[in-house]
Amino acid sequence: MSTGFLITDAGVFDGNDVFDGDILVVENRIYAVARGIVNRKLPRIDGNGWWVLPGLINAHDHLDWTASPRLGRGPYANSYQWAGDVHLPETEPVASVLSMSDEARLMWGGLKCVISGVTTVMHHNPLKPLLTSSRFPVHVFHPYRWSHSPGFSKSLQQDFEAYGGQGLFFIHCAEGTDDAARGEFQQLDRLEMLDCNTVLIHGVGLGVGDIPRLKSSGCRLVWCPSSNEFLLGGTVEPAVLRSGIPVALGSDSSVSAEGHLIDELRAAARTGVFSPLELLKLVTSQAAVTLNLTEGRGSLVEGGVADLFAIRRSTDDPAADLLNSSRDDVEAVVCNGRVLMWKLNGPFADECVECDAEIRGLHRIRFPLQQLMTETPSAVLDALPNFLKDVYNTVSADD
Ligand SMILES: [Zn+2]
Repeated sequence: MSTGFLITDAGVFDGNDVFDGDILVVENRIYAVARGIVNRKLPRIDGNGWWVLPGLINAHDHLDWTASPRLGRGPYANSYQWAGDVHLPETEPVASVLSMSDEARLMWGGLKCVISGVTTVMHHNPLKPLLTSSRFPVHVFHPYRWSHSPGFSKSLQQDFEAYGGQGLFFIHCAEGTDDAARGEFQQLDRLEMLDCNTVLIHGVGLGVGDIPRLKSSGCRLVWCPSSNEFLLGGTVEPAVLRSGIPVALGSDSSVSAEGHLIDELRAAARTGVFSPLELLKLVTSQAAVTLNLTEGRGSLVEGGVADLFAIRRSTDDPAADLLNSSRDDVEAVVCNGRVLMWKLNGPFADECVECDAEIRGLHRIRFPLQQLMTETPSAVLDALPNFLKDVYNTVSADD
């Protein structure tokens, strides 16, 4: 017997266009996106009053640092100065974060994804087995080549040549406003590491004069505005962002970012560089192009993997509604055809009996929250970033 569901009468953003329609999910795939789909075998979910969006794509995070609060007091001239200032492994809460198991640290990152509608994430650190296992709730982009940064990498050449030099290569670059940061782009060019598989993270030090080489090299850029503002007091030049090179949005880690990916979208919106619709594409269809994603990720297409994010519809503009959304507006998060989070009294509630925890009497979630909280030291729980403290407070209050 096949599993799946039919969402009817929803507002749909399929990655490019906005229309009203139905979405039929069978197993882990989108079987159809159209008006008037009829299916009598699978549960029918009333999507009236919803926007159904592709599951969001976060192009840059360090999932293992999700439980940490922001660290540092910027602005700094570059990220290396910030790192020197916040490298305090003996002090709390950093000491307690470092005392946790890798798995527990990464699972906080998984929770961050689920509560913000992220179904695909790029993790800028080693790919631990948990991240590609069925125990991790969302899809972690892999395989990937990566290096920390020109300043911190101990094996830059080796990192670049991993996997026979094939596939995307991610590296922090030009994360600063001084000459040292600005020179990193030229440094990578001299090392012959700029090509169409190179994904530069940050690029705050890139100037208008770098645009011709950015374009001729074919490299890509991930923008993390709230992290940049916090560390450096500024972000990427609008002309660079609008130069036509492939761009995606990343939340970066909790150590420097404002919150989760929707918070990052709001930070991006405040710069005024992109329209709301362009921003929505930066975390869906455009992100899929920037990260070479396949299987329909970042869009809602027939045959594509069933990654969906449903939010309450208040206007005719899904991008504006997403930017204005709070957790109350989240109706459902579906990854690989599996409903991970849903409104307690919403139309999915009858279908999703298997549940691990309840958040704020508002949502149910399939996620080992209680276990994660048991494994997390109190010094970390006390200092959680606000968007996670909200989850922790309500879940612990239910005990
Ligand atoms: Zn980073």
